[in-house]
Amino acid sequence: MLRTSTCGQLRRNDSGNTVTLAGWVDSLRDHSGVLFINLRDRYGITQITITSDIGDELFQLVRSLHNEDVIQVVGVVQQRPEGIVNTKIATGEIEVKAAHVTVLSRSAVVPFLPASPETPSEETRLKYRFLDLRRPAMQRTLELRSRMTKVMRDYFHENNFNEIETPMLGKSTPEGARDYLVPSRVNPGTFYALPQSPQLYKQILMIAGYDRYIQVARCFRDEDLRADRQPEFTQLDLEMSFVEMEDIIEIMSGLVKRLMNDVLGRDLKLPIPRMEYAEAMERFGHDAPDLRFAMELVDLTELAKTVEFRVFRGVADSGGRVRAINAKAAAEKYSRKDIDTLNQWVIDNFGAKGVAWLKVDGDGNLTGPIAKNFKPEELAAIKSKLVAEPNDFLLFSADTFETTSRVLNGLRRRLAAELKLIDPNEMNFCWIVHFPMFDWDDEEKRYVAMHHPFTAPLNEHLHYLDSEPRQIKAQAYDLVLNGFEVGGGTIRIHDGAVQEKVFNLLGMTPETCRQMFGFLLDALSFGAPPHGGIALGLDRLVMLFAGCDNIRDCIAFPKTMKASDLMTGAPDVVAAKQLDELHIATKKT
Ligand code: ASP
Repeated sequence: MLRTSTCGQLRRNDSGNTVTLAGWVDSLRDHSGVLFINLRDRYGITQITITSDIGDELFQLVRSLHNEDVIQVVGVVQQRPEGIVNTKIATGEIEVKAAHVTVLSRSAVVPFLPASPETPSEETRLKYRFLDLRRPAMQRTLELRSRMTKVMRDYFHENNFNEIETPMLGKSTPEGARDYLVPSRVNPGTFYALPQSPQLYKQILMIAGYDRYIQVARCFRDEDLRADRQPEFTQLDLEMSFVEMEDIIEIMSGLVKRLMNDVLGRDLKLPIPRMEYAEAMERFGHDAPDLRFAMELVDLTELAKTVEFRVFRGVADSGGRVRAINAKAAAEKYSRKDIDTLNQWVIDNFGAKGVAWLKVDGDGNLTGPIAKNFKPEELAAIKSKLVAEPNDFLLFSADTFETTSRVLNGLRRRLAAELKLIDPNEMNFCWIVHFPMFDWDDEEKRYVAMHHPFTAPLNEHLHYLDSEPRQIKAQAYDLVLNGFEVGGGTIRIHDGAVQEKVFNLLGMTPETCRQMFGFLLDALSFGAPPHGGIALGLDRLVMLFAGCDNIRDCIAFPKTMKASDLMTGAPDVVAAKQLDELHIATKKT
């Protein structure tokens, strides 16, 4: 070993020992003839002192060092004199007096210092990821991530799960997103797809009798990226046989409790609260509600049917909804200009016509441009419905159910952040259950699976498959943490006839079913146990456990929003010969 100790290890009781350390020059200072180096590695920082008695040649060598050079130091641990103890670092009571220094590697001038408290632009960080990953904050996050996957593996192994790998090169199947395709050289004109998730493989493992499966699985989806999405991401993927929804919720709740305890040292009371999908949409306008604050949506549609104000009445009478939120004690904080900004934001982001508002003044009167449209008793009814008190700020959305949900969920989250209603340390979990089985795609005029096509309906809703598919609730459940979906799963269809019916409803002909999913239908016909599972989004979970607000900070080598890797330059053009071998011709762009 090129070192006997790490840079985070030495303490006062090591004084007098001769040690060897190795690491990066975090800083070099010259104090009237004594050189001080902060030597850094993954474990911390140790101060090295170099005096002229090390010999002239070595002294000059050390003086010529630059930030991020890699050196090895042999020296004696010394207690620091009172008064120069550094309480900010764990090794602050000691220093190592160098007897010998070896330069292991020189660094070019760095575009930014890992030690600097200022974070460089994200572009620079991703281009020089090797330097960015040296930053202690990044190292802490990746360590946390590693601990989390270890806890997961330990927990599931203790519970008799097998970890089984499934292929990266698979068949393109419609799971909702666009596939990444890989051309086959030996089968001209054909393509593998990278897995969007190991969904069908894990179901087939159940049929094959491996009743408890997990995998830390890499998944690929070629979608337009949003801030918290990556084209390749990691799931903790799980499947179990002979289970119902309750069993999956129980094993996963146990995992979350264990993670909270082992990783954050915090207790999580079980059971995790649970809410029906329909209730979440009604009360919060979203299927991953942030329950760290209230500001719930209030329905005013019935009231709106009785008022004269056209904007409300017209929507309510034509089957739309009038809903509102009450931002408590916020009236004074939002000026007309702020409200104009909110209004424009709602128009730009949620396809809404705008947001209406009222404020409660000090005497309890409702004020604002729309106030004059209501009779006194109508204003009183609005006030009472929204439990409005002086200085409350009321925001209304009159539109379809979907649009009012989007608008008020958006406003609710934005206002909570602006009004600082959220305790950043809170970890608020909930389960959202019984999602609808299908969405209706108005463009394509067909049903689409809300989760994926292999999801089982509630048993008592099976009969709707032939009559009213939109009434069907699925045996589907999402795990939500602080307003983010961190996992989702379902009980699966294990009856081939039901599976075929669902494929048909999704617009597939029997021929397409055979061609795309023949292997699944075959497998289902050879004795399929009832089964179900879930996948947790590891990157997002790490983000929330680490308290980061950017998913890219939780992945060692992430892609940009344009799906490129700025360090390696991927994706990139390839040699014509490679394309030839793959039987691929590219269009000139
Ligand atoms: N395969 C699903 C997904 O990736 C999760 C599941 O249903 O287990 O969302």
